[in-house]
Amino acid sequence: MRALITGGAGFIGSHVADCLLERGDQVVLLDDLSTGRLSNIEHLEDNQDAEFVLGSILNADLVDHVVSRVDVVYHLAAAVGVNLIVEKPLESLMTNIRGTETVVEKAHKYGKRTLVTSTSEIYGKNVSDSLSEDDDRILGSPLKSRWSYSEAKAIDEILAYTYWREKGLETVIVRLFNTVGPRQTGSYGMVVPRFVSQALRNESITVFGDGTQTRCFCYVGDVVTGLVALSEHPDAFGKVFNLGGVEEVSISDLAQRVIERSGSTSEVEFIPYDVAYEEGFEDMERRVPDNTRAHKLVGFAPTASLDDIIDRVIADQKR
Ligand code: UDP
Repeated sequence: MRALITGGAGFIGSHVADCLLERGDQVVLLDDLSTGRLSNIEHLEDNQDAEFVLGSILNADLVDHVVSRVDVVYHLAAAVGVNLIVEKPLESLMTNIRGTETVVEKAHKYGKRTLVTSTSEIYGKNVSDSLSEDDDRILGSPLKSRWSYSEAKAIDEILAYTYWREKGLETVIVRLFNTVGPRQTGSYGMVVPRFVSQALRNESITVFGDGTQTRCFCYVGDVVTGLVALSEHPDAFGKVFNLGGVEEVSISDLAQRVIERSGSTSEVEFIPYDVAYEEGFEDMERRVPDNTRAHKLVGFAPTASLDDIIDRVIADQKR
């Protein structure tokens, strides 16, 4: 099999590439290096089965060409990270809506099975004990950039679903919850690599808000196993799946865990949201996935604990 991975030089995309190459597939990695990095794929430089294509998912001719040459598409290219969305809302919107429209349209033109990655931001402010795929979305104004991101990803989901329903294109939608691991950078806001990098420098750990907000972090290796299995399961077509971690932790406790496990002398500094992001910024108080659907279909079950995840990110950053 030959797979196109959009966002292939990104954090998750590069791990999908490693997984597919390991089992003998070929990969074409399309990335405009806006947030992706060549260092994520430099270990593939001499690999005959991996090809890097520099370019954007907004370039329809290029997308047409690369989709025509593969058997399956993993669409991971997106504007991600709350920082980036808040700083560049228009550009993010274009990438996330027009880019996905282009990829799915070309996948349909050539009849290529496509996995579209979405996000737990879909659920917005829903603080349910465990969010399952059919749960309601609770969103603030679309004029707040965070919620416009959620709207854009919702449109991506509708596109993928409608192409399946109306045109029979084999699409699978996956909502990722706080994926973490080696190669993720803190530059776009992601909390675990940020805390680890602050801890390793013995700088203040910047907890936004009061730190009582919670998340469930999932190791990238576990996520990638789930993504590949879902992409290939015929009963997954036209459906949406959560993939997330199982251990709920508050951001304050996360800061303490990172300090402890890195042996840092850092202290925690609380920063109000409007200073950290922008005036009127709204966070999600809680985000806990229900993974039952993916577990039942492909046996998805995260193996890495939060401590494992933190240790692996520490080792990666020390390297
Ligand atoms: N966060 C924080 N300090 C940071 C970066 C993030 O306290 O330096 C908080 C952020 O406000 C959110 C949580 O950590 O409540 C997770 O943030 P991230 O951007 O990693 O993912 P999100 O779940 O918001 O998409």
